[in-house]
Amino acid sequence: MSQGFLLVISGPSGCGKGTVSKALLERNSDIVFSISATTRKRRVGEEDGINYFFMDEEEFCENVEKNEFLEHAFVHNNYYGTPRDFVLKEIEKGEIVLLEIDVQGAMQVKKNYKNVVFVFLLPPTMAELKDRITKRGTETPEDIQRRFENAFEELNFVGEYDYFVVNDKVENAVLDIENIICAEKLRVKRH
Ligand code: 5GP
Repeated sequence: MSQGFLLVISGPSGCGKGTVSKALLERNSDIVFSISATTRKRRVGEEDGINYFFMDEEEFCENVEKNEFLEHAFVHNNYYGTPRDFVLKEIEKGEIVLLEIDVQGAMQVKKNYKNVVFVFLLPPTMAELKDRITKRGTETPEDIQRRFENAFEELNFVGEYDYFVVNDKVENAVLDIENIICAEKLRVKRH
């Protein structure tokens, strides 16, 4: 089996990270998803321990103090963090661990870990992005505005990533990422 690595996928809210990740996981049994912890309120249809580990700020801060997170960040007014032990164990087993995290978290991972592949998912256009966030209907108008404004900030980080993928059609974005994984499995040296 090839050596395990971290696959970081970032991209602005509404670019389709969730949908693309889900499809990627369904089609590739050697990829495992890292379930993040968050203080964000649960959306309809989301389950604790499946989509996120939902917790209050107190519990989140306790975990930060105990150094339980591989990275953590304050995103769109909520805290998010990646549980460290799970990720490191899976990597050790030779798995590819998918981290769907924001740019701040990705930059922490870049600083502290080797064997990471960074993919930035882009929407076809910014108008399409706004449309997708709005149509999702899960956020308040203020949240939608905040997420859209943050999208411009996040786009400044594309140059820090190894690859960009445009999510025009989910199937194509998934194929692009599968091709990236294929190449990365054959990589001789990783930075
Ligand atoms: P959402 O609230 O839409 O599920 O996620 C909001 C943002 O938080 C997205 O950009 C998502 O990638 C990011 N995010 C989710 N989990 C984590 C995490 O563990 N760490 C960091 N830094 N960002 C995360």
